[in-house]
Amino acid sequence: MPGFELFGDLERKEVHDVLDNGVLMRYGFDGMRNGHWKAKSLEKELQNTFQSKYVQLVSSGTAAVSVALASAGVGAGDEVIMPTFTFVASFEAIMMLGAIPVLVDIDDTLTLDPKAVELAITDKTKAIMVVQMCGSMANMDALKSVSEQHNLIFVEDACQAIGGTYKGQPLGSLADLGCFSFDFVKTVTCGEGGAVVTNNPEYYKNADQYSDHGHDHIGNDRGAETHDYLGYNFRISELHAAVGLAQIKRLPEFLSIQKRNYTMLREAMSHIPEVTFRRVPEGGEESYAFLNFFLPDLETARKVSEAFKTNGIDACWNYYDNNWHYVRKWHHLKDAKSLYPLSTEIRQELSRLKEKDFSQSDHWIGRNLSCLIKMSWTEDEVNARAAKMAEIIQNVLN
Ligand SMILES: *Cc1c(COP(=O)(O)O)cnc(C)c1O
Repeated sequence: MPGFELFGDLERKEVHDVLDNGVLMRYGFDGMRNGHWKAKSLEKELQNTFQSKYVQLVSSGTAAVSVALASAGVGAGDEVIMPTFTFVASFEAIMMLGAIPVLVDIDDTLTLDPKAVELAITDKTKAIMVVQMCGSMANMDALKSVSEQHNLIFVEDACQAIGGTYKGQPLGSLADLGCFSFDFVKTVTCGEGGAVVTNNPEYYKNADQYSDHGHDHIGNDRGAETHDYLGYNFRISELHAAVGLAQIKRLPEFLSIQKRNYTMLREAMSHIPEVTFRRVPEGGEESYAFLNFFLPDLETARKVSEAFKTNGIDACWNYYDNNWHYVRKWHHLKDAKSLYPLSTEIRQELSRLKEKDFSQSDHWIGRNLSCLIKMSWTEDEVNARAAKMAEIIQNVLN
């Protein structure tokens, strides 16, 4: 997955353009910048990539989620449904706005279970946020129809699934708002960065202004611009955008390498009857950033994970015991350990997390191994890795 693996001349050239004129900021300084608008150009590229009308670049994927929610009017006291399996950024971005994260079970897609979502809806629910984890996706038709029936805002965090598709459409472009991260370990990287994607002109205008202190971006005198509402600073810099501009042009190349490596590993493991693969909803195609499979039970998954580690198979995780991606170890969240006071409503919902039954999520995450697909492996390396992984699994099973 990490685009930094193939960092090269294209990235260097784009960054040099920026350093040559010295305008590190994305707005203003028209005369100095020699025609280089890296953030603007990257937004144009991303509109094509995501076949969407509007893209707003921001400083991170976490910022993208906050800006997306804020742009759609989600805030204090609103409940946002999110999955138990994601990155901590999901609840961070929700709580930053004073909204309440409501955690809901995943299914064998490793993403939100539409039935569990429906059961979690209350009269305070404002949005559903699906997270397309590890290169694949939820049943988007089912989730879309739940959000439409209940008149909710539908947000899609596709930070880990750039290049995946659902019924021919790019992941990240399927909901009311899509969010991407271009942090250092993502398939396309800017070093740090993120994007909000939408077809809704109102949401776009809000995202554009909110992410830059409320600036209305009218005219060419920043100091004279007005502010219709409160904003923040979630801007991306020209240096970061320049790296992304080089990387996004290489996405087709990245995806084809990921697919080749993923397919070789999967083929080797598909001969083991005890191994099953993560369900991809009908009409979906993964981005191949990860290979996810299930073993018969938690104990086997833990043993295989250990044996992988001791035998040099890196970057394969069983997320059951992970501190960052799964609800079990989010003790700081469950104990509401905040540096500053949280609202009563948020604290009430968080205190419920300790008793909530997530056995359905435990069932899938406990048996799952999630293997990062690297792009720098040679074909021989992937072959050797595939054989070794299959051998280790067989040994543990016997
Ligand atoms: C990486 C990631 C984010 C946050 O991105 P940052 O750019 O690191 O803030 C959010 N959601 C998911 C699912 C991610 O993987």
